[in-house]
Amino acid sequence: MPANEIVGLDPGELFVHRNVANLAPPQDANYLSVLQFAVDVLKVKHVMIVGHYGCGGVSAAVDGKRRGLVDHWLHPIREIAQESRDELGAIGDAQSRLNRLCELNVIKQVRNVASDVFVQDAWARGQQLCVHGWVYSLANGVVKDLDVTVGST
Ligand SMILES: [Zn+2]
Repeated sequence: MPANEIVGLDPGELFVHRNVANLAPPQDANYLSVLQFAVDVLKVKHVMIVGHYGCGGVSAAVDGKRRGLVDHWLHPIREIAQESRDELGAIGDAQSRLNRLCELNVIKQVRNVASDVFVQDAWARGQQLCVHGWVYSLANGVVKDLDVTVGST
């Protein structure tokens, strides 16, 4: 699914960075480079963390199977699952539990982006910038705003 179609923008109106399970790890130079370029050079006003329900990456983080290097990449999701084990454990249906973890993952990545020094510096300069958390459903095309927006425009 082209990312610009999800948000109803033309190609080129959106600067997109993708990785497995939509993570924003504060030590990942690739993601940080994209974020700084977007914030400092392109002066984007909106950063959207867009996860999707039924995410295979999120699922792989917690299914106990070994896949190699990606298991290390997905480690932050296991931490999120551990921190929210009471909430997740109360969800009986496995698919619903996975989908809630997809949401919790997006919420955590919004916090990562919002606490990043490039973003903090942009806000300190008075730059307009907000960070949104959305989850996309491939099944019905609906984007859910998780209402965790940080910042203002
Ligand atoms: Zn996915």
